Amino acid sequence: MGLSVGIVGLPNVGKSTTFNALTKASNAEAANYPFCTIEPNKAIVPVPDPRLDELAKIVKPNKIQHSVIEFVDIAGLGNKFLSNIRETEVILHMVRCFEDSNVTHVENSVDPIRDIEIIETELILADIEQLAKKIEKLTKEAKANVKGAKESLECAKALADHLDSGKSAASFSEFDSDVFNALNKELRLLSAKEVIYGANVNEDEISIDNEYVKKVKEYAKERGAEVIKLCAKIEEELIGLDDAEAKEMLESLGASESGLESIIRTAFAKLGLISYFTAGVVEVRAWTIHKGWKAPKAASVIHNDFERGFIRAEVISYDDYIACGGEAKAKEAGKMRLEGKDYIVNDGDVMHFRFNV
Ligand code: GDP
Repeated sequence: MGLSVGIVGLPNVGKSTTFNALTKASNAEAANYPFCTIEPNKAIVPVPDPRLDELAKIVKPNKIQHSVIEFVDIAGLGNKFLSNIRETEVILHMVRCFEDSNVTHVENSVDPIRDIEIIETELILADIEQLAKKIEKLTKEAKANVKGAKESLECAKALADHLDSGKSAASFSEFDSDVFNALNKELRLLSAKEVIYGANVNEDEISIDNEYVKKVKEYAKERGAEVIKLCAKIEEELIGLDDAEAKEMLESLGASESGLESIIRTAFAKLGLISYFTAGVVEVRAWTIHKGWKAPKAASVIHNDFERGFIRAEVISYDDYIACGGEAKAKEAGKMRLEGKDYIVNDGDVMHFRFNV
C-alpha cells in the first residue's frame, strides 16, 4: 500500500528542519510499529485525528493507535538522490518564503516561483533520462512485434516530446490513459506525482500570507495543487510541548493549527487513504485503507485471516457512535449495521469483523 511522501526543495529552504520536526513527531509512536524499519532518511508519523480522542473518551482504552504515513527526505538533487523518492506517491515540495540575511539562498535572492521551477525542471530531467532508456527498450520490442510494445512506444515518444518542452508528466494529455498508467507504474515518473507545496515562512508571518506565499498559492492553484504554510523552526519547537502549551504557542502566533499537522493530514488524503476504527478497551485504533476498499480487503490490514474467513462486518458510523455514547447504546438505537463482502468501507466507520477460518 502506498503510504509515503518524498520531500524535495532547494538547499536552505527548511527541508531538514521540517524533516527533523517530523522525526521528532514519529519518536513517540514509532515503537508501536514493529513492522516499520526506521532508517535515517525516513520518518513514520502519526496522522492527527481528533476522532480517536473522542472515541477514547467513551471507551477509555489502554492505548490509542493512529494511522501512520512515511516521509522520505532526500539529501540533494540529481538522479542518485532523486531515485530515493521514486517509490513515494506524493511529493512535499518545500519552498522558501522567508527573508533572513543569516540564511544564504543558493540563488542569492528569495524568489519562490523561480525556485519551484528549478526543482520541477530537475524532476523532469530525471524523468527524461528514465524515459530515454525505456524508449530504447521499447523500440527493440516493437521491432520484434512484442505485444503492446508499439502502443507503449508511441505513448512514450509523445511523453518524451512533452517533457522535452519543459512540461511535467502530470500535464501530459494522455495522463489518464491505460498505456500511460502502465508506463508510469513501471517508471514511477517523478513529475507525474501529486505535489503539496510547503511554504516556509518566518514565525511572525504565520498568521498572514506574505507576498511570497501569495505567489506560491497562485502558482499552485493553476496546477490544482495545495499549499500549506508553516514555520519549520516553530514546528520543531512545538513537538516538544504538551497539547496545552502547543495550543497556547500557536495562538500567540495567530495560527489556528500546526502547519506540520496540516501537511500530514493533507498528504494522507492525497495518498487516497482513509481510516476506519476499531474501539475496544485494549486499544482504540485507526486502520489505514485506500478509499473504495470493500470490507474483506479492509479487514486484511488487521489480519489476513479476517479477509480469508470473512463472514460479515458490524458497522457503526463514527457520528452515530459518538451521538449514542458508545457501542452498546448504538446497538440499542438500531445504529449498528451488518454488512457483507461487497460493502465499501467509509472513512470513520467503527468496525467489528466476524470471520471463520
Ligand atoms: P535545507 O537545506 O532545505 O534542509 O534547510 P534547513 O532546514 O537546514 O534550513 C536552512 C537554514 O534555515 C537553517 O539555519 C534553519 O534554521 C533556517 N530556517 C529554517 N526555517 C526557517 C524559517 O522559517 N525562518 C528562518 N528565519 N530561518 C529558517
